[in-house]
Amino acid sequence: MHKYIITIPSLLLHALHRSLIMKPNSQPLKHRSSHDTEREFGGTLGAICIPIFLPLTVLFLTSVSRSPEASVLQWPPPLPSADQLWDPLAPVLLLGWIALHALLYVLPLGKVSEGLVLRDGTRLKYPINGFHGLCISGVLLMLLVGLGAPLGYLFELLLPLAVCAIAVSFLFSVYLYIRSFWVPSHGLALGGNTGNPLYDFFIGRELNPRIGNFDLKYFCELRPGLIGWVVINLGMLMKEVELRGSPSLAMILVNSFQLLYVADALWNEEAVLTTMDIVHDGFGFMLVFGDLAWVPFTYGLQAAFLVVHPQALSSLGAATIIALNGIGYYIFRKSNSQKNQFRRDPSHPSVARLETIATATGKRLLVSGWWGLVRHPNYLGDLLMALAWSLPCGFSHLLPYFYVIYFTVLLIHREDRDERQCRAKYGLAWDTYCRRVPYRIFPYIY
Ligand code: NDP
Repeated sequence: MHKYIITIPSLLLHALHRSLIMKPNSQPLKHRSSHDTEREFGGTLGAICIPIFLPLTVLFLTSVSRSPEASVLQWPPPLPSADQLWDPLAPVLLLGWIALHALLYVLPLGKVSEGLVLRDGTRLKYPINGFHGLCISGVLLMLLVGLGAPLGYLFELLLPLAVCAIAVSFLFSVYLYIRSFWVPSHGLALGGNTGNPLYDFFIGRELNPRIGNFDLKYFCELRPGLIGWVVINLGMLMKEVELRGSPSLAMILVNSFQLLYVADALWNEEAVLTTMDIVHDGFGFMLVFGDLAWVPFTYGLQAAFLVVHPQALSSLGAATIIALNGIGYYIFRKSNSQKNQFRRDPSHPSVARLETIATATGKRLLVSGWWGLVRHPNYLGDLLMALAWSLPCGFSHLLPYFYVIYFTVLLIHREDRDERQCRAKYGLAWDTYCRRVPYRIFPYIY
Protein backbone atom coordinates (compact mmCIF):
# COMPACT_ATOMS: atom_id res chain seq x y z
CA MET A 1 0.00 0.00 0.00
CA HIS A 2 2.83 2.34 0.85
CA LYS A 3 4.03 1.91 -2.66
CA TYR A 4 0.62 2.63 -4.11
CA ILE A 5 -0.10 5.69 -2.05
CA ILE A 6 3.25 7.37 -2.08
CA THR A 7 3.64 6.99 -5.81
CA ILE A 8 0.12 8.19 -6.59
CA PRO A 9 0.72 11.16 -8.85
CA SER A 10 -0.67 14.45 -7.78
CA LEU A 11 -3.54 14.19 -10.24
CA LEU A 12 -4.90 11.19 -8.38
CA LEU A 13 -4.72 12.97 -5.06
CA HIS A 14 -6.40 15.88 -6.63
CA ALA A 15 -9.17 13.66 -7.90
CA LEU A 16 -9.62 11.92 -4.60
CA HIS A 17 -9.88 14.91 -2.38
CA ARG A 18 -12.37 16.52 -4.70
CA SER A 19 -14.60 13.47 -4.41
CA LEU A 20 -14.66 13.19 -0.66
CA ILE A 21 -16.61 14.41 2.23
CA MET A 22 -16.83 17.18 4.77
CA LYS A 23 -15.73 20.22 2.91
CA PRO A 24 -17.73 23.07 4.40
CA ASN A 25 -17.16 26.44 2.78
CA SER A 26 -14.92 25.38 -0.07
CA GLN A 27 -15.03 28.14 -2.60
CA PRO A 28 -16.22 27.80 -6.17
CA LEU A 29 -13.52 28.34 -8.74
CA LYS A 30 -13.69 31.48 -10.79
CA HIS A 31 -16.27 31.37 -13.57
CA ARG A 32 -15.00 30.23 -16.90
CA SER A 33 -16.42 30.19 -20.38
CA SER A 34 -19.40 27.88 -20.85
CA HIS A 35 -17.58 25.56 -23.26
CA ASP A 36 -14.42 25.12 -21.31
CA THR A 37 -11.36 23.39 -22.61
CA GLU A 38 -9.34 23.78 -19.42
CA ARG A 39 -8.81 20.29 -17.97
CA GLU A 40 -8.08 19.14 -14.46
CA PHE A 41 -6.78 15.80 -13.12
CA GLY A 42 -4.39 15.13 -15.99
CA GLY A 43 -7.01 15.65 -18.72
CA THR A 44 -7.91 12.67 -20.89
CA LEU A 45 -5.07 10.51 -19.56
CA GLY A 46 -6.26 11.05 -16.00
CA ALA A 47 -9.84 10.39 -17.06
CA ILE A 48 -8.76 6.99 -18.44
CA CYS A 49 -6.30 5.95 -15.70
CA ILE A 50 -8.15 7.06 -12.57
CA PRO A 51 -11.35 5.03 -13.21
CA ILE A 52 -9.15 1.94 -13.63
CA PHE A 53 -6.59 2.50 -10.90
CA LEU A 54 -8.88 3.59 -8.06
CA PRO A 55 -11.45 0.76 -8.29
CA LEU A 56 -8.55 -1.73 -8.34
CA THR A 57 -7.13 -0.01 -5.25
CA VAL A 58 -10.46 -0.42 -3.45
CA LEU A 59 -10.59 -4.12 -4.30
CA PHE A 60 -6.94 -4.64 -3.39
CA LEU A 61 -7.21 -2.94 0.01
CA THR A 62 -10.50 -4.63 0.86
CA SER A 63 -9.07 -8.00 -0.07
CA VAL A 64 -5.84 -7.46 1.89
CA SER A 65 -7.66 -6.20 5.00
CA ARG A 66 -9.43 -9.58 5.32
CA SER A 67 -6.38 -11.73 4.62
CA PRO A 68 -4.32 -13.32 7.44
CA GLU A 69 -1.12 -11.61 6.26
CA ALA A 70 -2.78 -8.21 5.78
CA SER A 71 0.38 -7.18 3.99
CA VAL A 72 0.13 -4.42 1.45
CA LEU A 73 3.74 -4.96 0.45
CA GLN A 74 3.34 -8.62 -0.50
CA TRP A 75 4.26 -9.28 -4.12
CA PRO A 76 2.48 -10.60 -6.08
CA PRO A 77 -0.53 -9.28 -4.17
CA PRO A 78 -3.04 -11.85 -2.93
CA LEU A 79 -5.67 -11.96 -5.65
CA PRO A 80 -9.22 -12.92 -4.66
CA SER A 81 -10.80 -15.83 -6.51
CA ALA A 82 -13.88 -15.22 -8.68
CA ASP A 83 -16.26 -16.70 -6.10
CA GLN A 84 -14.88 -14.34 -3.42
CA LEU A 85 -15.86 -11.43 -5.62
CA TRP A 86 -19.46 -12.32 -6.23
CA ASP A 87 -22.48 -13.06 -4.06
CA PRO A 88 -26.04 -12.60 -5.39
CA LEU A 89 -27.00 -11.06 -2.04
CA ALA A 90 -24.62 -8.14 -2.56
CA PRO A 91 -26.52 -6.30 -5.33
CA VAL A 92 -29.80 -6.87 -3.48
CA LEU A 93 -28.41 -5.36 -0.27
CA LEU A 94 -26.66 -2.50 -2.02
CA LEU A 95 -29.65 -1.46 -4.12
CA GLY A 96 -32.00 -1.97 -1.16
CA TRP A 97 -29.76 0.28 0.96
CA ILE A 98 -29.71 3.02 -1.67
CA ALA A 99 -33.50 2.72 -2.09
CA LEU A 100 -34.03 3.00 1.69
CA HIS A 101 -32.02 6.21 1.79
CA ALA A 102 -33.82 7.57 -1.26
CA LEU A 103 -37.06 7.00 0.62
CA LEU A 104 -35.73 8.67 3.78
CA TYR A 105 -34.52 11.61 1.64
CA VAL A 106 -38.03 12.34 0.34
CA LEU A 107 -39.74 12.04 3.73
CA PRO A 108 -40.83 15.48 4.97
CA LEU A 109 -38.39 15.54 7.89
CA GLY A 110 -36.06 18.36 8.94
CA LYS A 111 -35.86 21.76 7.33
CA VAL A 112 -35.41 22.74 3.71
CA SER A 113 -32.48 25.02 2.80
CA GLU A 114 -31.59 26.93 -0.31
CA GLY A 115 -28.28 26.44 -2.09
CA LEU A 116 -26.12 29.25 -3.43
CA VAL A 117 -27.39 31.33 -6.35
CA LEU A 118 -26.96 29.52 -9.69
CA ARG A 119 -25.77 31.11 -12.93
CA ASP A 120 -29.37 31.65 -14.03
CA GLY A 121 -30.08 33.55 -10.79
CA THR A 122 -32.24 30.82 -9.22
CA ARG A 123 -31.57 28.84 -6.04
CA LEU A 124 -32.32 25.16 -5.55
CA LYS A 125 -33.94 23.77 -2.42
CA TYR A 126 -32.38 20.88 -0.46
CA PRO A 127 -33.82 18.80 2.39
CA ILE A 128 -31.58 18.91 5.46
CA ASN A 129 -32.56 15.51 6.81
CA GLY A 130 -29.40 13.40 6.48
CA PHE A 131 -29.08 13.12 10.25
CA HIS A 132 -32.66 11.80 10.39
CA GLY A 133 -31.61 9.27 7.73
CA LEU A 134 -28.71 8.14 9.92
CA CYS A 135 -30.92 7.76 13.01
CA ILE A 136 -33.82 6.01 11.27
CA SER A 137 -31.63 3.59 9.35
CA GLY A 138 -29.71 2.96 12.59
CA VAL A 139 -32.91 2.07 14.45
CA LEU A 140 -34.04 -0.19 11.58
CA LEU A 141 -30.70 -1.99 11.66
CA MET A 142 -30.90 -2.48 15.41
CA LEU A 143 -34.37 -3.99 14.97
CA LEU A 144 -33.06 -6.34 12.31
CA VAL A 145 -30.15 -7.37 14.54
CA GLY A 146 -32.61 -7.89 17.40
CA LEU A 147 -34.63 -10.17 15.12
CA GLY A 148 -31.52 -12.23 14.47
CA ALA A 149 -30.28 -10.78 11.15
CA PRO A 150 -26.65 -11.94 10.78
CA LEU A 151 -25.04 -8.52 10.32
CA GLY A 152 -21.64 -10.13 10.77
CA TYR A 153 -22.11 -11.68 7.32
CA LEU A 154 -21.10 -8.28 5.95
CA PHE A 155 -17.54 -9.42 6.58
CA GLU A 156 -17.95 -12.21 3.99
CA LEU A 157 -19.80 -9.81 1.71
CA LEU A 158 -17.22 -7.02 1.76
CA LEU A 159 -15.60 -7.84 -1.57
CA PRO A 160 -18.86 -8.61 -3.44
CA LEU A 161 -20.32 -5.38 -2.04
CA ALA A 162 -17.28 -3.40 -3.17
CA VAL A 163 -17.54 -4.98 -6.64
CA CYS A 164 -21.23 -4.00 -6.81
CA ALA A 165 -20.56 -0.46 -5.56
CA ILE A 166 -17.93 -0.05 -8.28
CA ALA A 167 -20.30 -1.47 -10.93
CA VAL A 168 -23.12 0.82 -9.74
CA SER A 169 -20.71 3.79 -9.89
CA PHE A 170 -19.87 3.04 -13.52
CA LEU A 171 -23.49 2.41 -14.61
CA PHE A 172 -24.79 5.44 -12.74
CA SER A 173 -22.09 7.64 -14.28
CA VAL A 174 -23.04 6.43 -17.77
CA TYR A 175 -26.68 7.31 -17.02
CA LEU A 176 -25.62 10.76 -15.74
CA TYR A 177 -23.49 11.39 -18.80
CA ILE A 178 -26.26 10.42 -21.24
CA ARG A 179 -29.00 12.38 -19.48
CA SER A 180 -26.79 15.49 -19.38
CA PHE A 181 -27.45 15.97 -23.12
CA TRP A 182 -31.08 16.72 -22.40
CA VAL A 183 -30.50 19.50 -19.88
CA PRO A 184 -30.48 23.19 -20.78
CA SER A 185 -26.94 24.49 -21.32
CA HIS A 186 -27.05 26.64 -18.15
CA GLY A 187 -27.45 23.41 -16.18
CA LEU A 188 -24.01 22.14 -17.20
CA ALA A 189 -20.95 22.39 -14.95
CA LEU A 190 -18.31 24.83 -16.09
CA GLY A 191 -15.36 22.59 -16.81
CA GLY A 192 -17.44 19.46 -17.45
CA ASN A 193 -18.38 20.43 -20.96
CA THR A 194 -15.19 20.06 -22.97
CA GLY A 195 -16.66 17.90 -25.72
CA ASN A 196 -14.24 15.06 -24.90
CA PRO A 197 -16.59 12.20 -23.89
CA LEU A 198 -14.07 10.38 -21.68
CA TYR A 199 -13.13 13.49 -19.76
CA ASP A 200 -16.70 14.77 -19.45
CA PHE A 201 -17.90 11.34 -18.29
CA PHE A 202 -15.19 11.36 -15.62
CA ILE A 203 -15.49 14.95 -14.41
CA GLY A 204 -19.28 15.24 -14.79
CA ARG A 205 -21.26 17.31 -17.31
CA GLU A 206 -24.43 18.20 -15.44
CA LEU A 207 -24.13 20.46 -12.40
CA ASN A 208 -27.28 19.58 -10.49
CA PRO A 209 -28.87 16.44 -11.96
CA ARG A 210 -32.35 16.09 -10.54
CA ILE A 211 -35.33 13.81 -11.01
CA GLY A 212 -38.15 16.16 -10.05
CA ASN A 213 -36.99 17.64 -6.74
CA PHE A 214 -34.69 14.71 -6.02
CA ASP A 215 -31.10 15.97 -6.28
CA LEU A 216 -28.90 13.03 -7.27
CA LYS A 217 -25.56 14.65 -6.42
CA TYR A 218 -26.61 16.02 -3.05
CA PHE A 219 -28.22 12.67 -2.18
CA CYS A 220 -25.00 10.77 -2.88
CA GLU A 221 -22.69 13.23 -1.10
CA LEU A 222 -23.42 12.27 2.50
CA ARG A 223 -25.96 9.48 2.62
CA PRO A 224 -25.70 5.94 1.18
CA GLY A 225 -21.89 5.80 1.15
CA LEU A 226 -21.16 7.69 4.33
CA ILE A 227 -23.82 5.96 6.41
CA GLY A 228 -22.90 2.71 4.64
CA TRP A 229 -19.36 3.10 6.00
CA VAL A 230 -20.54 2.99 9.62
CA VAL A 231 -22.92 0.11 8.88
CA ILE A 232 -20.01 -1.89 7.45
CA ASN A 233 -18.09 -1.07 10.64
CA LEU A 234 -21.00 -2.35 12.70
CA GLY A 235 -21.02 -5.52 10.61
CA MET A 236 -17.33 -6.05 11.45
CA LEU A 237 -18.13 -5.58 15.14
CA MET A 238 -20.91 -8.18 14.91
CA LYS A 239 -18.52 -10.55 13.15
CA GLU A 240 -16.14 -10.18 16.06
CA VAL A 241 -18.97 -10.99 18.46
CA GLU A 242 -19.72 -14.15 16.42
CA LEU A 243 -16.07 -15.20 16.51
CA ARG A 244 -15.06 -14.23 20.03
CA GLY A 245 -18.25 -13.72 22.02
CA SER A 246 -17.92 -9.96 22.53
CA PRO A 247 -16.55 -6.93 20.74
CA SER A 248 -13.01 -5.90 21.58
CA LEU A 249 -12.17 -2.52 23.02
CA ALA A 250 -10.20 -1.70 19.87
CA MET A 251 -13.24 -2.47 17.68
CA ILE A 252 -15.53 -0.40 19.91
CA LEU A 253 -13.18 2.57 19.67
CA VAL A 254 -12.88 2.39 15.87
CA ASN A 255 -16.67 2.10 15.53
CA SER A 256 -17.37 4.96 17.94
CA PHE A 257 -14.79 7.38 16.51
CA GLN A 258 -15.92 6.90 12.94
CA LEU A 259 -19.59 7.07 13.90
CA LEU A 260 -18.89 10.40 15.60
CA TYR A 261 -17.22 11.69 12.42
CA VAL A 262 -20.12 10.60 10.19
CA ALA A 263 -22.77 11.90 12.62
CA ASP A 264 -20.95 15.24 12.77
CA ALA A 265 -20.94 15.50 8.95
CA LEU A 266 -24.65 14.78 8.80
CA TRP A 267 -25.49 17.05 11.73
CA ASN A 268 -23.73 19.86 9.81
CA GLU A 269 -25.16 18.75 6.48
CA GLU A 270 -26.15 22.27 5.46
CA ALA A 271 -22.46 23.19 5.17
CA VAL A 272 -22.16 20.87 2.17
CA LEU A 273 -24.29 23.28 0.13
CA THR A 274 -21.36 25.72 -0.12
CA THR A 275 -18.71 23.15 -1.02
CA MET A 276 -16.92 22.91 -4.34
CA ASP A 277 -18.62 19.56 -4.96
CA ILE A 278 -22.10 21.07 -4.92
CA VAL A 279 -21.36 24.57 -6.20
CA HIS A 280 -18.83 23.90 -8.91
CA ASP A 281 -18.33 20.25 -9.88
CA GLY A 282 -20.46 18.34 -12.32
CA PHE A 283 -21.78 14.98 -11.22
CA GLY A 284 -19.70 12.36 -13.01
CA PHE A 285 -17.65 9.27 -12.25
CA MET A 286 -15.20 11.15 -10.03
CA LEU A 287 -17.81 12.14 -7.46
CA VAL A 288 -20.05 9.09 -7.85
CA PHE A 289 -17.20 6.66 -7.25
CA GLY A 290 -15.82 8.71 -4.34
CA ASP A 291 -19.20 8.84 -2.65
CA LEU A 292 -20.40 5.28 -3.26
CA ALA A 293 -17.24 3.16 -3.34
CA TRP A 294 -14.09 4.92 -2.13
CA VAL A 295 -15.37 6.28 1.18
CA PRO A 296 -17.33 3.25 2.46
CA PHE A 297 -14.71 0.68 1.46
CA THR A 298 -11.41 2.39 2.24
CA TYR A 299 -12.16 4.66 5.19
CA GLY A 300 -13.13 1.80 7.49
CA LEU A 301 -10.37 -0.71 6.72
CA GLN A 302 -9.37 -0.76 10.40
CA ALA A 303 -12.57 -2.55 11.45
CA ALA A 304 -12.15 -5.33 8.85
CA PHE A 305 -8.51 -5.66 9.88
CA LEU A 306 -9.45 -6.06 13.55
CA VAL A 307 -11.75 -9.01 12.76
CA VAL A 308 -8.77 -11.04 11.56
CA HIS A 309 -6.12 -9.42 13.76
CA PRO A 310 -7.52 -8.91 17.26
CA GLN A 311 -5.60 -6.42 19.37
CA ALA A 312 -5.30 -6.25 23.13
CA LEU A 313 -5.55 -2.67 24.28
CA SER A 314 -4.63 -1.55 27.78
CA SER A 315 -6.85 0.90 29.66
CA LEU A 316 -4.08 3.48 29.52
CA GLY A 317 -3.62 2.94 25.79
CA ALA A 318 -7.36 3.25 25.20
CA ALA A 319 -7.58 6.40 27.35
CA THR A 320 -4.71 7.99 25.42
CA ILE A 321 -6.33 7.18 22.06
CA ILE A 322 -9.71 8.50 23.25
CA ALA A 323 -8.04 11.71 24.41
CA LEU A 324 -6.28 12.06 21.03
CA ASN A 325 -9.54 11.62 19.13
CA GLY A 326 -11.30 14.03 21.51
CA ILE A 327 -8.63 16.71 21.05
CA GLY A 328 -8.67 16.20 17.28
CA TYR A 329 -12.44 16.45 17.13
CA TYR A 330 -12.48 19.55 19.33
CA ILE A 331 -9.95 21.35 17.10
CA PHE A 332 -11.68 20.19 13.90
CA ARG A 333 -15.17 21.22 14.99
CA LYS A 334 -14.28 24.47 16.75
CA SER A 335 -12.07 25.76 13.93
CA ASN A 336 -14.52 24.84 11.16
CA SER A 337 -17.41 26.39 13.11
CA GLN A 338 -15.41 29.54 13.89
CA LYS A 339 -14.61 30.17 10.22
CA ASN A 340 -18.12 29.26 9.05
CA GLN A 341 -19.62 31.63 11.61
CA PHE A 342 -17.18 34.38 10.66
CA ARG A 343 -17.98 33.98 6.95
CA ARG A 344 -21.76 33.90 7.62
CA ASP A 345 -21.88 36.81 10.08
CA PRO A 346 -18.61 38.53 11.14
CA SER A 347 -20.49 40.62 13.69
CA HIS A 348 -21.71 37.58 15.63
CA PRO A 349 -20.61 37.87 19.30
CA SER A 350 -18.63 34.59 19.13
CA VAL A 351 -16.30 35.99 16.44
CA ALA A 352 -16.73 39.77 16.60
CA ARG A 353 -13.75 40.26 18.94
CA LEU A 354 -11.27 38.22 16.91
CA GLU A 355 -8.42 40.07 15.25
CA THR A 356 -8.66 40.23 11.47
CA ILE A 357 -6.87 41.77 8.50
CA ALA A 358 -8.60 43.47 5.60
CA THR A 359 -8.19 42.27 2.00
CA ALA A 360 -8.77 44.08 -1.28
CA THR A 361 -11.84 41.90 -1.96
CA GLY A 362 -13.69 43.36 1.03
CA LYS A 363 -13.54 39.98 2.85
CA ARG A 364 -11.41 39.84 6.01
CA LEU A 365 -9.06 37.11 7.18
CA LEU A 366 -8.95 35.86 10.76
CA VAL A 367 -5.50 36.15 12.36
CA SER A 368 -6.41 35.21 15.90
CA GLY A 369 -8.44 32.42 17.47
CA TRP A 370 -8.04 29.02 15.79
CA TRP A 371 -6.95 30.58 12.49
CA GLY A 372 -4.14 32.40 14.28
CA LEU A 373 -2.68 29.11 15.55
CA VAL A 374 -1.90 27.62 12.12
CA ARG A 375 -3.29 28.40 8.68
CA HIS A 376 -5.33 25.17 8.57
CA PRO A 377 -6.32 24.21 12.12
CA ASN A 378 -9.23 22.18 10.76
CA TYR A 379 -6.80 19.91 8.89
CA LEU A 380 -4.76 19.49 12.06
CA GLY A 381 -7.82 18.30 13.98
CA ASP A 382 -8.86 15.98 11.16
CA LEU A 383 -5.41 14.39 11.04
CA LEU A 384 -5.27 13.83 14.78
CA MET A 385 -8.57 12.00 14.53
CA ALA A 386 -7.31 9.95 11.56
CA LEU A 387 -4.36 8.83 13.66
CA ALA A 388 -6.62 7.92 16.56
CA TRP A 389 -8.64 5.65 14.24
CA SER A 390 -5.53 3.63 13.36
CA LEU A 391 -3.81 3.35 16.72
CA PRO A 392 -6.25 0.78 18.18
CA CYS A 393 -4.95 -1.62 15.50
CA GLY A 394 -1.44 -1.70 16.99
CA PHE A 395 1.82 -1.32 15.14
CA SER A 396 2.31 -4.72 13.50
CA HIS A 397 0.78 -3.79 10.12
CA LEU A 398 0.73 -0.85 7.76
CA LEU A 399 -2.75 -1.45 6.37
CA PRO A 400 -4.74 0.12 9.25
CA TYR A 401 -2.65 3.26 8.71
CA PHE A 402 -3.76 3.54 5.09
CA TYR A 403 -6.29 6.26 5.88
CA VAL A 404 -3.99 8.47 7.96
CA ILE A 405 -1.14 8.19 5.43
CA TYR A 406 -3.37 8.84 2.44
CA PHE A 407 -5.15 11.66 4.28
CA THR A 408 -1.89 13.36 5.33
CA VAL A 409 -0.65 13.41 1.74
CA LEU A 410 -4.07 14.54 0.55
CA LEU A 411 -4.41 17.39 3.06
CA ILE A 412 -0.86 18.64 2.51
CA HIS A 413 -1.59 18.73 -1.21
CA ARG A 414 -5.01 20.32 -0.61
CA GLU A 415 -3.47 22.93 1.68
CA ASP A 416 -0.92 23.81 -0.97
CA ARG A 417 -3.67 24.21 -3.55
CA ASP A 418 -5.78 26.34 -1.22
CA GLU A 419 -2.78 28.56 -0.45
CA ARG A 420 -2.29 29.23 -4.15
CA GLN A 421 -5.98 30.06 -4.57
CA CYS A 422 -5.93 32.35 -1.52
CA ARG A 423 -2.76 34.10 -2.70
CA ALA A 424 -4.44 34.71 -6.06
CA LYS A 425 -7.59 35.98 -4.29
CA TYR A 426 -6.06 38.08 -1.53
CA GLY A 427 -2.56 39.00 -2.80
CA LEU A 428 -0.59 41.08 -0.29
CA ALA A 429 -3.09 40.52 2.50
CA TRP A 430 -2.48 36.78 2.20
CA ASP A 431 1.28 37.33 2.45
CA THR A 432 0.70 39.39 5.60
CA TYR A 433 -1.42 36.56 7.02
CA CYS A 434 1.35 34.05 6.24
CA ARG A 435 3.90 36.20 8.04
CA ARG A 436 1.62 36.52 11.07
CA VAL A 437 0.75 32.81 11.06
CA PRO A 438 3.83 31.08 9.65
CA TYR A 439 2.84 27.43 10.11
CA ARG A 440 0.46 25.70 7.74
CA ILE A 441 -0.93 22.66 9.59
CA PHE A 442 1.35 21.52 12.43
CA PRO A 443 2.47 24.26 14.86
CA TYR A 444 6.28 24.71 14.82
CA ILE A 445 6.68 21.78 12.39
CA TYR A 446 4.95 22.48 9.06
P1 NDP B 1 -11.35 25.00 4.53
O1 NDP B 1 -12.52 24.92 5.46
O2 NDP B 1 -10.01 24.85 5.11
O3 NDP B 1 -11.46 26.35 3.75
C1 NDP B 1 -10.39 27.03 3.10
C2 NDP B 1 -10.93 28.42 2.82
O4 NDP B 1 -11.15 29.11 4.05
C3 NDP B 1 -9.97 29.31 2.05
O5 NDP B 1 -10.04 29.09 0.67
C4 NDP B 1 -10.50 30.68 2.43
O6 NDP B 1 -11.68 30.89 1.64
C5 NDP B 1 -10.94 30.50 3.88
N1 NDP B 1 -9.89 30.91 4.79
C6 NDP B 1 -8.62 30.46 4.87
N2 NDP B 1 -7.96 31.06 5.86
C7 NDP B 1 -8.82 31.93 6.43
C8 NDP B 1 -8.72 32.86 7.51
N3 NDP B 1 -7.60 33.01 8.18
N4 NDP B 1 -9.82 33.58 7.83
C9 NDP B 1 -10.96 33.42 7.15
N5 NDP B 1 -11.13 32.56 6.12
C10 NDP B 1 -10.06 31.83 5.76
O7 NDP B 1 -11.66 24.00 3.32
P2 NDP B 1 -11.68 22.47 3.07
O8 NDP B 1 -12.89 22.25 2.26
O9 NDP B 1 -10.37 22.06 2.50
O10 NDP B 1 -11.81 21.72 4.50
C11 NDP B 1 -12.99 21.72 5.32
C12 NDP B 1 -12.95 20.53 6.26
O11 NDP B 1 -13.19 19.31 5.54
C13 NDP B 1 -11.62 20.35 6.97
O12 NDP B 1 -11.86 20.06 8.33
C14 NDP B 1 -10.99 19.18 6.26
O13 NDP B 1 -10.12 18.49 7.14
C15 NDP B 1 -12.20 18.36 5.88
N6 NDP B 1 -11.96 17.49 4.71
C16 NDP B 1 -12.20 16.14 4.88
C17 NDP B 1 -12.00 15.25 3.84
C18 NDP B 1 -12.23 13.80 4.05
O14 NDP B 1 -12.18 13.03 3.08
N7 NDP B 1 -12.48 13.33 5.25
C19 NDP B 1 -11.52 15.73 2.51
C20 NDP B 1 -11.30 17.18 2.46
C21 NDP B 1 -11.52 18.00 3.51
P3 NDP B 1 -12.48 32.32 1.62
O15 NDP B 1 -11.56 33.35 2.20
O16 NDP B 1 -12.77 32.54 0.18
O17 NDP B 1 -13.70 32.11 2.46
